[in-house]
Order: sequence, then C-alpha cells, then structure tokens
Amino acid sequence: MPLGTLALADFLDRHGYSTRIIHTGIEQLQNRSFKIEDIFKEYSPTVVGIDLHWFVHSYDAVRIAETVKEYSSAKVVLGGFTASYFAEEILSRFNSVDAVIKGDAEEPLIQFMRERDRDLQEVPNLVYKEENIIKKSEKRFIADEAFLSKLDYTRFELLLNCENYFRLTTQTGDLDPQPWKVRVKRHAWVPMGRGCSVNCSYCGGGLDAQCLITGRDKPIFHPKEKVVETLRRFMEMRIDSTYMDFDPYRDRRHHLELFEMIRKEKIDISSEFLLWSPSNRGFITEFAKTFNPLYSSLVISPESGSEEVRQKNKGFCYDNKTLFDWLNDAKRESVPVKVFFSSGLSWETKENFNETIKLGKTILENYPVIEMVSNPLVMEPASKRYLNPEMFGVKLKWKSFMDYYGRFKRLAEGIPEDSRIGYETSWESEREIIENSIRFNKMVSST
Ligand code: SF4
Repeated sequence: MPLGTLALADFLDRHGYSTRIIHTGIEQLQNRSFKIEDIFKEYSPTVVGIDLHWFVHSYDAVRIAETVKEYSSAKVVLGGFTASYFAEEILSRFNSVDAVIKGDAEEPLIQFMRERDRDLQEVPNLVYKEENIIKKSEKRFIADEAFLSKLDYTRFELLLNCENYFRLTTQTGDLDPQPWKVRVKRHAWVPMGRGCSVNCSYCGGGLDAQCLITGRDKPIFHPKEKVVETLRRFMEMRIDSTYMDFDPYRDRRHHLELFEMIRKEKIDISSEFLLWSPSNRGFITEFAKTFNPLYSSLVISPESGSEEVRQKNKGFCYDNKTLFDWLNDAKRESVPVKVFFSSGLSWETKENFNETIKLGKTILENYPVIEMVSNPLVMEPASKRYLNPEMFGVKLKWKSFMDYYGRFKRLAEGIPEDSRIGYETSWESEREIIENSIRFNKMVSST
C-alpha cells in the first residue's frame, strides 16, 4: 500500500468525512471467496478513491473502478503517479473513472468531496469528465514542507483488518503468508519527504518526472519533529522495524540532525535505510548509534558493475572505488548491507554485464551482505527512457496506459505475456536482459 494512503484517509477523516481504507489483497488473502462487490453490502460510499500509484496496478485499479460502478452509485477518483501521468487517456478509455487527481492529492481530495456535485473547476490538480468531455482544473496544489507537517501517517485503525496487514507484510513489503516469516516483527514505512534532485534514466520518480507529474522542482523533507512523532507513535503500536527510503542529496546534514533527535527521544526502533548514493563513514557511525541493530541495515543500489554504464544511467554516479570505500566503512561499523543490481540499463551488453556479476561476487565474498539480487528493469512511465527512448537506445513495447493495462490484464487472466519488461535496448533483447539477472542471481546462490 503506498504510504500516503494512511495520510489521505486521516486527512479526510479529520475534515469530517467518514473514511475506510480497504486493501483488497488483504481481504482476498484472509477470505478466498472475497469479492470486491461484498464491500457494498456493508458500506455505501459516496466517493471511492482508488490508488493507481504504481503501474503494476493498472488493470486492477480499473477492474475495481468497474465493480464500484456496477454495484454502487459512488463517484470514482483515481490518484498516484501512474494515474497522474496517464490521466487523460484513462478518462477517455474508461467510463468507470469519473476523475483523476494529478500529483499531490490531500488538499484536492478534500475539495473534491466539497465540490463533487458543484464546480469541479474549483478542485486543484483535477482532470475529470463532464458530459463526456474531459476537462482540467486550472487550480494547482503542490504540497510544501509546512503542509507536510499537517499529515499523519499512523492512523492504521482506518485500514480494515490492519492486524492482518501487519501480519502479512514482511520487511521487503511483499504480502507473504508463509507462517515461518510472520509475527517475527511489525513493520512500517516512514514518510521522510517527496521528490528527487536527480534523474536516473530508468526512474519514473526522478526530478523531471516529479516536475511533470506533481510540479515539484526540488525535494522537500517532512519536518524532523514530525518524523520523530511518527516513530514514537509506531513504537506505541509495537512496530519495531521501519523502512526509510528518502535520500535526495549527498549532503546528509538533515538526516544526521534527525538521527540525533531520535536518540534524544530514546526511540528504540530498527531501520532499513536506503542510500541513494554512498555516504561518508560518519553517517554510518551515526546510523549504527541511532537504530536498534536487530533488523537494521543499509541498502545501496550500484545497479551495474560497469562504471561507464552506471555513469550513463544513474543520477548519483560513483566509481567502484567509492563503492568499496563505503562497503569497508560499513564493515568497520559492523552494519549489515543489502546491495541491489539491475539488468537492462542502457549501454549494458552481455559482455559488460559480466562486470556486474564480477563486482557482485567480490562484494559477497568480502563484505557483510545480507541480501543481494539483480532484477530486470521494467519500463517506468515518465522516466527519461520512456520519454526519450531513442536517446537511450531503447525500443519501447509499452507506449500507453492501454499497453500497461493489457500486460497486467493478461497476467491476471493467466494468458501468456508478449512482454515482461516493456522494452528492449539497442544492445540486448528482452530475453537477454532477463537472462542477465538470472545469471547474476545464480551466482549469488552459488557463492
Ligand atoms: S535517485 Fe534515481 S532512482 Fe532514486 S528517486 Fe532519484 S531518480 Fe529515482
């Protein structure tokens, strides 16, 4: 579940709108005969908001919207990155969707509740249908840091069956009903900010994509006091493990000040912290001093073993020496690390992917790595490679919302897919890209 969902629900609730989050995956896991329409036996919503943040939900979001329209008279509004980027196409293709909120959705959603039967031009960031014509509000809302301080991401009681959500959500965030993995820890994602300062070629959430989708032209941080308050609430809810994924600058003074505040407040919690570029040793020392070591780790994603390929694709670029220096620092500080690679980067060839395998093996053999994996990159809407495929030697197979929708519809229906990743490059076929990651992961399991 995108971590903003709780804040959206809380914001509605505090503005006087009775709100429930229903995670249809959780409902299906606990009751195999659950159907979306069952919701309307118990609830009579006037508005149903559906998350379409991530393109993998393209088919499911529309399928849910169609069920809502069939079994209720509720208005359907979509939000999230994918919905934002494809808003006009979604509205023109599917009668089940009444409106899409582009970008930051908190204030627009409140305005939508107020204006839904009156003047939708008053709702910022809204694209909507009126008498089958698609219209766009001229009003704009972009959350700033002062606004972020108003949000509460801890209202898990608004999520139906939230205990099952905790029970079934592992540290990696996948729904995992395996009994030996559950009840070990309670895990939650920590909101730390929005945006990015760079553009990685493959990322649909980089600086330019954020400008396009949300209008945000630089990263903003959640106020440190607010993050500390969130962690304190998490502790009260017996959440002992957190995931922190917001590191938009090489200068980490903000995080260091936050860590100091967490220590001062005696918050005892673990953190899996994603570094978007290698840090200095001082950061690792402070990280180790701040978080409970039980589930804590630092995560880094060099993506490629080839410095040239990394440089041409990553916004935060660094050479292998810098990576090894960082790994040495983590080793000296006894902080476990996770290292992630990808296949399918532009300018990657079967030959230079061997450098990725070699680098992965060296790291595994010499450093305290608790997880290492390579995944084939999947084409993200609004990424640099999606917007300028020729510049990155990419041939797109998914070019529209309907391509994403079709891919995940076939997956849901068990029909063989025509593409798993949505592209091939001038250097490798889709099959070769997938095989590179398979080769890498075989090396990991045999090392
Ligand atoms: S550092 Fe790269 S991958 Fe991470 S959010 Fe920014 S552009 Fe995306």
